[in-house]
Amino acid sequence: MSDSQPQKFTIVGGGLGGALMAVYLGQAGYDVEVYEMRPDMRGGNVPGGRSINLALSHRGIVALQRVGLAEDILKTAVPMRGRMIHETNATLTFQRYGKDDTHVIYSVSRGGLNVLLLEAAGRLPNVKLFFNKKCTNVRLDTGVVELLDMKTNEKSTVDGGIVVSADGAFSAVRRPMLKLDRFDYRQDYLKHGFKELVIPPDSQGSFQMAPNALHIWPRKSFMMIALPNEDGSYTCTLFWPFDGPHSFDALQTKEDVARYFQEHFPDAVPLMPTLTEDYFTNPSSSLCTVRCGPWYYRDKVVLLGDAAHAVVPFYGQGMNASFEDVLVLCECIEQYKPDWEKAFRTYYHTRKEHVDILADLAISNFIEMRDHTGSKMFRLKKKTEKLLSQLLPFWYMPLYTMTTHTRMPYGDAIKRAKHQKRVVTMTAITTLVIVVGTILRSLLT
Ligand SMILES: Cc1cc2nc3c(=O)[nH]c(=O)nc-3n(C[C@H](O)[C@H](O)[C@H](O)COP(=O)(O)OP(=O)(O)OC[C@H]3O[C@@H](n4cnc5c(N)ncnc54)[C@H](O)[C@@H]3O)c2cc1C
Repeated sequence: MSDSQPQKFTIVGGGLGGALMAVYLGQAGYDVEVYEMRPDMRGGNVPGGRSINLALSHRGIVALQRVGLAEDILKTAVPMRGRMIHETNATLTFQRYGKDDTHVIYSVSRGGLNVLLLEAAGRLPNVKLFFNKKCTNVRLDTGVVELLDMKTNEKSTVDGGIVVSADGAFSAVRRPMLKLDRFDYRQDYLKHGFKELVIPPDSQGSFQMAPNALHIWPRKSFMMIALPNEDGSYTCTLFWPFDGPHSFDALQTKEDVARYFQEHFPDAVPLMPTLTEDYFTNPSSSLCTVRCGPWYYRDKVVLLGDAAHAVVPFYGQGMNASFEDVLVLCECIEQYKPDWEKAFRTYYHTRKEHVDILADLAISNFIEMRDHTGSKMFRLKKKTEKLLSQLLPFWYMPLYTMTTHTRMPYGDAIKRAKHQKRVVTMTAITTLVIVVGTILRSLLT
């Protein structure tokens, strides 16, 4: 490092993105301090997270590979080869994600992954981790971070050097930035929230459903999904409106829950022995999209992950995009240091357009998952996409493949998908016109 580099990066938030950023910066030789408001998860102290497992895919894996962590993480992950659709009459249909096992996504434990990242960061001599330390404010001009100790209630301040905000969708670091001239900010809640439920392993400790699939119970205005865990269980997530006739609000008693699940998810009910208890014990949480910008303040503060761009979880890309942020931000730092502001500006302009598109994709995929995955039309569309990608592998790639199994920027993927669709539609119409024309001509002559 040159003398002009700062002595220190301060990362606020030791979640998925923050812990990975600490590993990147630590390996690059910077002094790093991480302040996390929750207790230390290492040593088995994993709290009940918002989402117990997550789908890890190509973008996240590449970011983990760069710091040598992908292999260890994938050892504990369960590969998912496609969607398993559960209809109300208990019919099952498996829809493979790609042509073969090169196109799988991985179900990973959120807590397990976070612990692994914190352990990797903690092994680096120049990275210091602090827990139970909540950031309450950042003085933007000086980079001073104000902290509250969650155990003792003591207040303190640290000179942050460069402050990296990795403190999630409701970021405290971002808060003072909202008062800056020309800082854009927008948050949109979905009418739907989510609740986690569980399908435990059977008495032999084995999976009760096909293990290598993401299970979906699409029911038009709502849905349930289940991802497998290494221990043979599944984490189910019910996505439902907060109020109305089909909503969290509508089920007030254990009998209501048992009746409703029997009607809409009959094949899942026998696999969920603690359903009614879990339903009332586990919280119903909201889902929010956050768009803001710019994601930096001079050479002092930079935002990443959900703090910069929270998206709803239906494309399985929030964490993957956070990990890709870390990768791109560190590439920019490497390229432009010690011009930190230029590094942050370039990172922001490289990412912003694309994560905005991801936010839109994630919302539209919710509609696709809950309304269409069970339909014949959807299956036909997926088969056609697969056929086209096999017949024309250098030209045609389904949108899902581009976003999930490549690092093509999200905006470029959607542009290419629209172009492919236009060409396929025009070709289909032209072929139809030629066929109909030929038939008519032969009838008339
Ligand atoms: C139901 C659900 C399912 C999801 N499924 C997927 C999926 O399958 N695939 C995928 O890629 N993504 C998924 N996501 C999205 C993913 O969880 C997030 O995008 C990802 O966790 C973002 O990482 P992050 O580090 O930016 O934020 P977070 O993981 O939220 O971490 C923020 C950290 O900052 C800490 N913190 C917060 N405030 C402060 C403060 N003031 N001071 C100090 N510390 C603070 C928090 O305790 C936390 O540890 C899902 C999200 C949800 C809600």
